[in-house]
Amino acid sequence: MQHLGHTRSSYQRDHLLHTPDTFVRAPLPGMRNATAIVHAGPAMGAGFTQYTVELERDGSFPLGKAQSFVYVIDGVVNCAENKCAENRLSAGHYAWLPPDRAAHITAAEPARVAVIEKPHSAWNGVVPGPITGDERSTPAKPMLGDEAVEVRTLLPDDPAFDCAVNTMTFQPGATLPMVEIHIMEHGLLMLEGAGIYRLGEHWYPVKAGDFIWMAPYCPQWFGALGK
Ligand code: MN
Repeated sequence: MQHLGHTRSSYQRDHLLHTPDTFVRAPLPGMRNATAIVHAGPAMGAGFTQYTVELERDGSFPLGKAQSFVYVIDGVVNCAENKCAENRLSAGHYAWLPPDRAAHITAAEPARVAVIEKPHSAWNGVVPGPITGDERSTPAKPMLGDEAVEVRTLLPDDPAFDCAVNTMTFQPGATLPMVEIHIMEHGLLMLEGAGIYRLGEHWYPVKAGDFIWMAPYCPQWFGALGK
């Protein structure tokens, strides 16, 4: 296909829109029958690292030494670590691991997983134990009273985790209630649907498969489009 030099992807000082047509795949150290698309990391200004791993059956990779969050986009994987029984994770399942757990992900069938890694800053010296969960059985809460925007909080609301991971569901036409500007930075993987994202002074059409990084204080807003 001829792209004639055009893409929706855009890299700005305070945000990145990373669309699938621009993804470059390469294995990270320790990967076997697997490859990675690194979306965000210290090299581009983020304080965390986020990447998507594509695994063949029996493909595997080690998680880094930082705290790690793994979300299965599709397929089935096993998450094994040294102090805990092996966990089978299918689409919508996730695992959070504290630092230094020497965990490995192995695909039971071809799979895609989203991985977030971030140095852990222990609050009051507390380092939580590993947890697993299922996004689909996580209760949804309306955002600021708007039933058309649902938030599912995947990690406990506890500063000991030193990060948050949420899924958000917008009904057609639903929008964020305000343009947000805040100190927290975000990674965002769009799992379904489409809409318009405001990032800084840019408005982008976005759809499933896109990744977005928002730096601290990047003005941000989203409206869902389509059915
Ligand atoms: Mn935000």
